[in-house]
Amino acid sequence: MGKGWESDVAELLGEKKLVLDSSAVEKLSKDYYWYSPVLDAKLRGKIADGAVKADSEEDVAKTLAYAYAHRIPITPRGAGTGNYGQAVPLEGGILLDVSGLNKIVEIGNGYARCQCGVKLGVLEKAVRESGQELRIYPSTLMVATIGGFISGGSGGIGSITWGNLWDGNVLEATIYTMEQSPKRVIVSGTEVQDYIHSYGTTGIVTEVVIPLAPARLWQESICQFDSLEEAALFGNAVAHDVSIPKRMVSLSEWPLPSYFTPLAKQLEKGSAAVLLETEEGYLEAVSAHAKQANGRMGYVKDSSQYRKGISLSDFTWNHTTLWSLRADPSYTYLQSGFSATSFMDQIASIKGKFGDEVLLHMEWMMAGGVIFPIALPVIRYSTEERLYEIVAYFETIGVSVSDPHTWTVSPRSTTYGGMVERKRVNDPLGLLNPGKLVADPAD
Ligand SMILES: Cc1cc2nc3c(=O)[nH]c(=O)nc-3n(C[C@H](O)[C@H](O)[C@H](O)COP(=O)(O)OP(=O)(O)OC[C@H]3O[C@@H](n4cnc5c(N)ncnc54)[C@H](O)[C@@H]3O)c2cc1C
Repeated sequence: MGKGWESDVAELLGEKKLVLDSSAVEKLSKDYYWYSPVLDAKLRGKIADGAVKADSEEDVAKTLAYAYAHRIPITPRGAGTGNYGQAVPLEGGILLDVSGLNKIVEIGNGYARCQCGVKLGVLEKAVRESGQELRIYPSTLMVATIGGFISGGSGGIGSITWGNLWDGNVLEATIYTMEQSPKRVIVSGTEVQDYIHSYGTTGIVTEVVIPLAPARLWQESICQFDSLEEAALFGNAVAHDVSIPKRMVSLSEWPLPSYFTPLAKQLEKGSAAVLLETEEGYLEAVSAHAKQANGRMGYVKDSSQYRKGISLSDFTWNHTTLWSLRADPSYTYLQSGFSATSFMDQIASIKGKFGDEVLLHMEWMMAGGVIFPIALPVIRYSTEERLYEIVAYFETIGVSVSDPHTWTVSPRSTTYGGMVERKRVNDPLGLLNPGKLVADPAD
């Protein structure tokens, strides 16, 4: 980076928006990539030259124009809770912190319009006041930003009913392109797919419109089972029971529940646990499914206490991995999709082959209209080679793996071609988060 950029940017945006303190810049240059020992070793030293704290579209536009003119890479960042080093600047340059664009612009009937830096927990609270709720959100609800979720996440709580980000859960996005004069573009419909899970490589998202659902009263409960297989049959039965409105069906085989220390009193030793969020009034139906699978319902939280204190969702999705890592740092994880019809055989094959080296944590979700279990299995890590042997085995038995040990957008993604084409148009010099979309124009 050329000398003098710091004073140029300070003059352009005001000194307060420029961060040069090395420990602050280092902190802003990291996310949760350390979940992966593979990424941890490779990304630890990657730090931006400085950061800009934008709090308006004007700040974003000015920063992009300056960076384009001086050929400076730009890495956007929301809350930095991504797991794959998506927000880590591989080639230095400016870290563009957009968490200051945090205004909720409008809450309408069935939708919310807000700036990219709005925290999902803040948004959920605000939309509930209007009798509505978010359709889907990651388990990092309280810290993650809506722009970061759309640009770097996939799905989470609510996905069992509403699908993931690609299933119509982003209605519109306002984008800034990386050109001499950055364009402000508004996209909707299928065009938004070029920006979902693109790690900010195709444009900076400054504002979004997302659909909302009518608010329901949610009730948390835990059902427990002597075996993983019984728990899996139960999880699948509840997931498919259309008469039970639900937000979450999350299974952890033993000993994973033993790592959920704040829930210790609620969990039976040795049992597989299924953590649920169902609408108030449906516990009997859930309990009947548990009995059918030789299990029992234990802990129940009254709906009036929903989101007060610790929530069961704090032990689901990639929080399950976090609790496991806290208990034993030698664990890591994978992300995988099971077959809707032969998942029981796939579970049996994996457990037969790997035993406790692979501990199954499963979430039921819907994608493209199909309900199926995904798994974020917790893996006892030994070497990178062994990790990819496990991946290869999963794939031979038809379990698809989205590799969480790489920082690049997956070329297997159905939207990959569209993203590459969009990047060519929106970022002709390849300055937006370089190295994350493999077919960067600059490569
Ligand atoms: C404990 C834990 C649990 C998690 N659970 C889930 C889960 O349930 N579901 C899930 O999908 N993910 C999950 N994640 C991953 C992550 O928390 C979410 O995807 C989250 O929504 C990311 O939001 P963020 O604001 O932290 O984004 P960041 O990490 O800041 O950014 C994510 C990516 O988007 C880019 N970006 C950020 N803002 C913008 C913008 N405005 N325009 C363009 N690009 C931008 C960044 O460069 C980066 O590539 C989890 C992570 C952890 C650590």
